[in-house]
Amino acid sequence: MGIENQITVLVIEDSESMRKVICGFVEGEGHIALEADGHIEAFEQLEANTVQLILMDIEMPVVNGIELTKQIRKRYERWIPIIFLSGNDRDKFLTQGIEAGGDDYLTKPVKPTILHAKINAMVRIATMQRELNLLNQKLEKLTLQDPLTKVMNRRALDKKLKEDWYTCQRINQPLSVLMIDIDHFKSYNDHYGHAQGDNCLKKVALSLKQNINRETDSIARYGGEEFTVLLPFTCLEHAEIKAKQLARLLEERSIEHIKSPTAKVVTISIGIACTSQEITSYKELINNADSALYQSKVNGRNQTCIYEQSIRKIS
Ligand code: GH3
Ligand code: MG
Ligand code: MG
Ligand code: MG
Repeated sequence: MGIENQITVLVIEDSESMRKVICGFVEGEGHIALEADGHIEAFEQLEANTVQLILMDIEMPVVNGIELTKQIRKRYERWIPIIFLSGNDRDKFLTQGIEAGGDDYLTKPVKPTILHAKINAMVRIATMQRELNLLNQKLEKLTLQDPLTKVMNRRALDKKLKEDWYTCQRINQPLSVLMIDIDHFKSYNDHYGHAQGDNCLKKVALSLKQNINRETDSIARYGGEEFTVLLPFTCLEHAEIKAKQLARLLEERSIEHIKSPTAKVVTISIGIACTSQEITSYKELINNADSALYQSKVNGRNQTCIYEQSIRKIS
């Protein structure tokens, strides 16, 4: 059997001899068998392993299989197929088992051919589930990423900003935000064309991304030719240093922009705001950084301004 078809099966059965027989069969089929003699061992195994199928005895002392199934369904969001094994084939048990969250029902003694077929069906489902999970992870990533620049999109930014805001508030640390806008980008597009404009956006995003070094810092495309950098655990003074460095390192990349009245290369204007400035919401933080950015534009572009009641120019 290929490793991709091998699954981990948890056999929950209070009778040791029966457990050994079933585990032996599961292993004989090429799968990994884990055992539990009741609810305590069952949860220990579920915590320690990624179980893909549970074979569950119904009649067990203390917590029976139906009750245990309910507990498992309550505790784990992830769906794990559960097949009941019972010496009792009365209809009542079948109904109760399925209602409790079980997926199938076999009567003991279990016929090897039947168990073989059931396990195979579950392997197919487990494989599909694995593929689906991978696809969902990819999809989740796509919904949070700007397709052009591959940095976080606006949606991801909103989420990250909220997280950083609450984390910093909780541990009483400052959170700084940089709003960044490419100078004279309209004339860049007009002169070099939209495709080249897209390329320029990619280069700017890459430069910013490469020069944000801390694991906790992040960058997003706010929209158009605007980017936002979140600097948690960073005071205004250090945010200033970072902003100036980002602007300088981009300028040093010397992306030609012969139509810019500011410089002959692509430059950026930056606005900074920090939670140390009597802020009451993260929206206000972004708005303040945006006001500071506006001031950088008014003051002549290719510079950084800090938000203040009266905005101060710093470079
Ligand atoms: P300022 O120095 O004041 O920032 O001027 P600006 O020309 O950069 O600003 P403006 O807001 O006038 O123009 C922004 C330009 O950015 C216009 C728009 O066509 C361009 N733009 C926005 N998104 C994209 C994109 O995804 N690709 C390309 N190529 N251009 C874009
Ligand atoms: Mg039993
Ligand atoms: Mg703009
Ligand atoms: Mg611009």
